[in-house]
Amino acid sequence: MTDIHQILRHYWGFNSFRPLQKEVIESVMQGNDTLTLMPTGGGKSLCYQVPALAKEGMCLVVSPLIALMKDQVENIRKKGITAFAIFSGMKRKEIVNALKVSANSNCKFLYVSPERLETALFREYLPGMDINLIAVDEAHCISQWGYDFRPSYLKIATIREELPDIPILALTASATPEVQKDICEKLQFRNVSKIPAATPAIPGRKDSPSPKIFRQSFERPNLLYSAFRVDSKINKIIEILTKVAGSSIIYCKSRRRTREISELLQLQNISSDFYHAGLIQDERNRKQEDWINNKTRVIVCTNAFGMGIDKPDVRTVIHADAPDCLENYYQEAGRAGRDGRKAFAVLLYDENDLQELEALTEQRYPSFEDIKNVYQAVSNYLQIPAGSGEGESYNFDIADFIKKFKLNSHTVLYSLKALEQDGWLAFNEQVFIPSTVQFIAGKAELNEFEKIHSELDIAIKSLLRAYEGIFDQEVPISEWVLTGLMKKNTEEVKEQLKQLHRYGIILYRPQKDSPQLFLLRNRIKTEDLTINMSAYNLRKENFRLRCKEMIRYINEKADCRSQMIASYFGDHSLNRCGVCDNCLRLRSVQLSKEEFEMINHQIISTISPGPLHTKDLLLRLNGIKKEKAWKVIEFLQAESKIKMDKDGFVSVQ
Ligand code: ADP
Ligand code: MG
Repeated sequence: MTDIHQILRHYWGFNSFRPLQKEVIESVMQGNDTLTLMPTGGGKSLCYQVPALAKEGMCLVVSPLIALMKDQVENIRKKGITAFAIFSGMKRKEIVNALKVSANSNCKFLYVSPERLETALFREYLPGMDINLIAVDEAHCISQWGYDFRPSYLKIATIREELPDIPILALTASATPEVQKDICEKLQFRNVSKIPAATPAIPGRKDSPSPKIFRQSFERPNLLYSAFRVDSKINKIIEILTKVAGSSIIYCKSRRRTREISELLQLQNISSDFYHAGLIQDERNRKQEDWINNKTRVIVCTNAFGMGIDKPDVRTVIHADAPDCLENYYQEAGRAGRDGRKAFAVLLYDENDLQELEALTEQRYPSFEDIKNVYQAVSNYLQIPAGSGEGESYNFDIADFIKKFKLNSHTVLYSLKALEQDGWLAFNEQVFIPSTVQFIAGKAELNEFEKIHSELDIAIKSLLRAYEGIFDQEVPISEWVLTGLMKKNTEEVKEQLKQLHRYGIILYRPQKDSPQLFLLRNRIKTEDLTINMSAYNLRKENFRLRCKEMIRYINEKADCRSQMIASYFGDHSLNRCGVCDNCLRLRSVQLSKEEFEMINHQIISTISPGPLHTKDLLLRLNGIKKEKAWKVIEFLQAESKIKMDKDGFVSVQ
């Protein structure tokens, strides 16, 4: 099958492509290096899956999020397509197995986490693989200027050197213009000089490969952005949820708060649940499913929630705490209103949020001394002798570590990140190693067994039905998926699997949900540790700028919010949305943005020296219509920028 529409129908049952998908697929099929910017849920996976299926050979997919990678592999396998994944935390034997099978079978997709690309093992098998496309998911991770730089992404270029004629497809939900440029450079896009400057969908040409950039418009006309300064966030949340019916996501900054807010909502009889990465996988799946199926109305969560989720009818996304950058904000807020109907993206903040944003840069970028301390402590904690450890994965209980060494958790987390970005180690808090099953009984033995143990028959049949290759190797399984097939709850499923294990029918390894620390280089003496400080400081300054942009978005009272977001990502083509809080405000006072700002400025400078009676203030604002001045005064009061006492004196707050 080589026709892309036929492939779409056959494997996905979809009748048409989403915006840009077809253009991207065609560009890739023509052999062009291609960068695609599409919001989360926009359908990026199809952009590499369809061309890979249309061509001979397999697609190498680089992806940083192990949990998502495993979902993808499971989904693809359900369509009867062979796919494998390689990530840190897997044992050497498992990796060899996956590599061997993918090189020698009709494997169509090999998912690899970036730190695995460089390993000798991977390099050994790479030449034997018939790769037709390199897909790089979350491609912004390759850029130092990006908000989620992962140095292991830089290794992709070396793969590219080995496969010079294979096109590359980079995918990301959002990247500023500098990051877009960086992605093309770092991935060594061919014929970069031909990159067009501004780039909405460009029809591909059939000549020599030329890099293409496809960017979906940042315009979301049905999404109403607003930001409120509030004293009580919970009251405002309740007010919003009472006014706007329908499914909702509430993002919070900490795990503890997700639970607190969810409980407060339940007290108000608002159906809600909380979600964060600290919960076990089964619980997370259950909470997510209940919300997707509208059994729970509101999900209160950290930013661990939402990736890979495509719920069209979310009516409100509320940020109970200010997010740390516009990239995250745009992605998270953008989960509202996918169905094209009116939806609200509301950001709540208080003075504290603004102060935290101001202080964030120092917290995220600890000093070299701090980094060295953490390196030393980690080496001690995991008992890694100097000169060893490279390529090893360790279970790393970070909470226990912090407690034992009496360290500040932020310092630890961000020192680990600094070490990761300098290529010393990789820490992954969310690594979840799924349960695996392999049948070790032969087919004849199995038949006999099923006759005697009819109570386990359904468990055996379900395993065989759901997982191919389960006789030949250990395959990752999900107890939760089996609950559906076996019509049993998770505990019963686990119990039956354990029984089969005890009878020697299967080898069952229950899941591990432990964070992993992966050493990329041998441990060295702490005094020999180096960090590229000029790169580190550049990243730090960039981070500071990102925070500033976030603060500006929050504080801005006149600029259109849709325009602000779009131009942050390099799209200056939007008109004012007319529906965000700032647009509505200007419309209601019938002031232009310039007038509003001018009056605002005059009021503040007039009362800055000291309190002034309203009458005097209005007198001094000569040339300005009274009603307009009043509108702005009222507005500044509501925003707690100025205050008025009972005698009518106004002063700066
Ligand atoms: P992204 O990676 O951009 O966040 P995904 O590739 O995970 O998005 O796709 C999100 C959802 O959209 C998936 O459930 C997918 O099946 C669905 N989808 C993708 N393309 C289409 C299409 N052409 N028609 C209908 N649904 C689609
Ligand atoms: Mg994706």
